[in-house]
Amino acid sequence: MTAANSAFQISVFPGDGIGGEVIDPTVEVLKLLEKQIGGFSFRFESEKAGAQHYKDTGTALPDDAMKRAESSDAILLGAMGMPSIRYPDGREIAPQLELRENLELFAGVRPVKTRPGAPNPLSDPRAANLDFVLIRESTEGLFANRGQTRYDGPADRPTAAHDTMTITRAGSERLFDFSFKLTQKRKAKGHRGQLMCIDKANVIGGFYWMRGIFDEMSAQYPDVEPAHMYVDACALNMVRRPWDFDVMVTENMFGDILSDLAAGLMGGMGMAPSADIGTRNAVFQPCHGSAPDIMGQGLANPTATLLSAAMMLEWLGDTHGISECNLAASILDHAVDLAFEDGSLIPTEFGGAAGTKTVTDAVVAHLGDGSARKRAESSA
Ligand code: ATP
Repeated sequence: MTAANSAFQISVFPGDGIGGEVIDPTVEVLKLLEKQIGGFSFRFESEKAGAQHYKDTGTALPDDAMKRAESSDAILLGAMGMPSIRYPDGREIAPQLELRENLELFAGVRPVKTRPGAPNPLSDPRAANLDFVLIRESTEGLFANRGQTRYDGPADRPTAAHDTMTITRAGSERLFDFSFKLTQKRKAKGHRGQLMCIDKANVIGGFYWMRGIFDEMSAQYPDVEPAHMYVDACALNMVRRPWDFDVMVTENMFGDILSDLAAGLMGGMGMAPSADIGTRNAVFQPCHGSAPDIMGQGLANPTATLLSAAMMLEWLGDTHGISECNLAASILDHAVDLAFEDGSLIPTEFGGAAGTKTVTDAVVAHLGDGSARKRAESSA
C-alpha cells in the first residue's frame, strides 16, 4: 500500500483487442490530471494478461501480475478475451472474472449517465439527462456456479443440465450495505435517495429471502427510500421510464443482463464505464469487450475507459480522503460532458467520424483550457 502519501500504485491491464487502444490515452489523461491538479501522483505498472497472453505463454493471468494487482492501490483494465482464443474445453479466456473472484470484488457499479449532445437512442428529451446507478452483485448468484454445471445421463448425450444460484446472507448484507451507502452519498449531492432491490421474489424462493434481508437492512438507513421491482418489469421500465431510477441493486446474472441494457441507454458500449469494488481492491474498466471487429483501426470510443478512470479517481479520493482526487474525477467527468455538448462529436460506433484520437483530443481540450475545471468547481 503506497497511498499514505497519496502516491498511488496503479496496476494497468490493457488486455486484448481494443483494450490497449483505450487504455493508452486514458493513462495519458490521468498523467495530465496528476500534473494539472497536484496533491496526488501515480505510478503505473503495465501487466500482461488475457487471451493473447494465454496464446503466447499458456497462462492467462500470471501469478506475479495477480500479486502485484492485489497489492496495488487500484486496477485499471482495458478488455480481455478473444472469441478466437479459447481453453481446450471451449471456454473463453476471461481473467477479469478471476480478478473479480480472487479479490472478492462484490459490488459491480454501473453508472448510467447520458450526456446532452451525445447520440441517444431514446427520443424523449428526458433521456438526455439520465443519471442512475445499477449495482450488480459480482461474487455469487447464478455466476457462482461457473464451471460447475452438473449433467444427468450419459456423458456423450446428457439428458439434463443443472446450474445452481447461490445467495448468501453475508454476501447480501455487504452488497446492500454498500448500496445503501452509495445511495446516501448520491442523496447528499441532490439525487432522490431511493434504493431499489431488483429480483424475482414472486417466483424464486431465494430472491424472496434476499428481499427480506434487504428490507431488514433498510431499517438501518431511514434516510434512504427502499423500493422493489421484479426484474422483468425493471427491463421494461428501464426503456420506458429510465429517468425514474436512482440506485438499483441486483443479483449477478440479472445485473449482467441489465447492465448491457443500461449501456444501450447510453447509446453504446463505448460510453459505459464500470467499477468492481471490494473491501480492499477495485477494478475500473469499460463495460465493453475487446471488440476484435474494430481493433487496430483507431475506431474505438475511449469515453467508457476515460469515465472508468474518473470513477477510479473518485474511489481513491473517497477511500484515502484525498480531495484533489475527487476534484480530478469531477473535472474529467465534466470534460466528457463538454466534449459532447455541442452535438458535433460523433464516435464511429454511432456512425460518426470520431475515432479514438478525435474523442480523446476533444476531452483533453477541455482539460487544457480550464473549462472542465471551472465547471467542476462551480458545481461543487
Ligand atoms: P464481451 O463478451 O467480452 O463483453 P461482447 O461480445 O459483448 O464482449 P464487445 O467486444 O463489447 O462484445 O463488442 C460489441 C460490439 O460493440 C462490437 O460491434 C464492437 O465493435 C462494439 N464496441 C465495443 N466497444 C466499443 C468501443 N469502445 N468503441 C466502439 N465500438 C465498440
